Amino acid sequence: MTHALPNSFEHVRARYAERTPASRALYEGALRDLPGGETRTSTFFQPHPLFMARGEGAILFDEDGNRYLDFLGNYTSLIHGHAHPRITAAITRQLPLGSAHGACTEAQNRLASLIKSRVASVERIRFANSGTEAVMQAVRTARAWTKRHVIVKMEGGYHGSWDGVMIGVKGKDRIPPGVSRSIAEETLTIPFNDPAAARRLIEERGQEIAAVIVEPMLGSTGAIPADPEFLSTLRRGTAAAGALLIFDEIQTFRLDPGGAQAVYGVTPDLTTFAKVIGGGLPIGAWGGRADAMDLYDPRRTGFISHPGTFNGNALAMVAGAAALELLTPGEISRINALGDRLRAGLRQAATASETAVTVTGMGSMAQVHFAAGPVTDYASAAAADKQRAAALHLALINEGVFTSPTCRFAVSTPMTDDDVDQAVSGARAAFTALAPLTAA
Ligand code: PMP
Repeated sequence: MTHALPNSFEHVRARYAERTPASRALYEGALRDLPGGETRTSTFFQPHPLFMARGEGAILFDEDGNRYLDFLGNYTSLIHGHAHPRITAAITRQLPLGSAHGACTEAQNRLASLIKSRVASVERIRFANSGTEAVMQAVRTARAWTKRHVIVKMEGGYHGSWDGVMIGVKGKDRIPPGVSRSIAEETLTIPFNDPAAARRLIEERGQEIAAVIVEPMLGSTGAIPADPEFLSTLRRGTAAAGALLIFDEIQTFRLDPGGAQAVYGVTPDLTTFAKVIGGGLPIGAWGGRADAMDLYDPRRTGFISHPGTFNGNALAMVAGAAALELLTPGEISRINALGDRLRAGLRQAATASETAVTVTGMGSMAQVHFAAGPVTDYASAAAADKQRAAALHLALINEGVFTSPTCRFAVSTPMTDDDVDQAVSGARAAFTALAPLTAA
């Protein structure tokens, strides 16, 4: 019932449409060839998605020439922004030497040792091409190591688009269309940040559980940090049951040189990585205990096979190494402090326009939820008003601030205090533009 939308929302939508006719035209063209006009669910939003023309540092330009401060950072992966000169140089040095050689390269040794030198729990690591693949392999590692089949994940935990972890992304035990029913029987979900539920399940079914997989901060569900007690309960429970604990650090690795596991002081058996470790190119990796990871050693009888045409391809390896070299402890602290500044500013901006929101996050990541809060798990995040979030997303775009369609922000190293302050001013204007809606 579009006529029921408040005027302020209609106004924001109309302004968005006025500013983005080139994106609209490209979207209409795309509708002829791509279902829904896109090829990535997470880049779609109404009334039409933006088409970007170029990115430079923290700035994006769309096909109409509008300029944006990029707080999406390709969903937290572009920690150094777009086209960082050192990463671009690493890729352009490698390109004439070949992109993928069908053989081992020194570049993969280098990225492996860079990650290992940072993350204490990683004794061995392997590369894949996406976070989805990394998670799939980490679960396979756990199943092969424990000779068990059940995995436990969080309600609202997003670990990629592989069947085994799609269960419960949108609430308890929900099986998305097309996902295997039989795999659903081997996937149990518990609420995030509920140590009692975790203890209960592990006590009841511990002997069947191969692994518990958890993000130290629920990323896609809304930048919701774990309570330290929850993670230590999972650690103790899995250890007692002989199951493996997998931390999905695909988003949270950016929070500390040693990943979120260093922040919490909880050591998982296996960790999955992607996003920032690829320097902007497609990548995935998983690593951890040598005894479990060595199941992939092809010299062993009955080893786990893990082929993959582009595993360890030289371009992603050199881009990733350049990105990690740039990601010094000092830079991580600096962008985490910018994240603190952003969260405080967003809260003030909402208060100034009498808008009730909860701003979650940690370090360089933040999210605005239209909920009185606290937002601590999937249920409390799902209860937030999604229509208002969609309206804020468009209003922020109108103010030159690009975030996820759910209003999630990631700070990148090209950003300064000024950029964060500009985003906060944009947010103040956006909340004000929506005030009749948000105060409704
Ligand atoms: N795990 C987490 C925590 C993620 O955020 C994502 C991607 N958003 C994935 C896994 C999947 O990674 P990819 O999109 O590279 O397959």
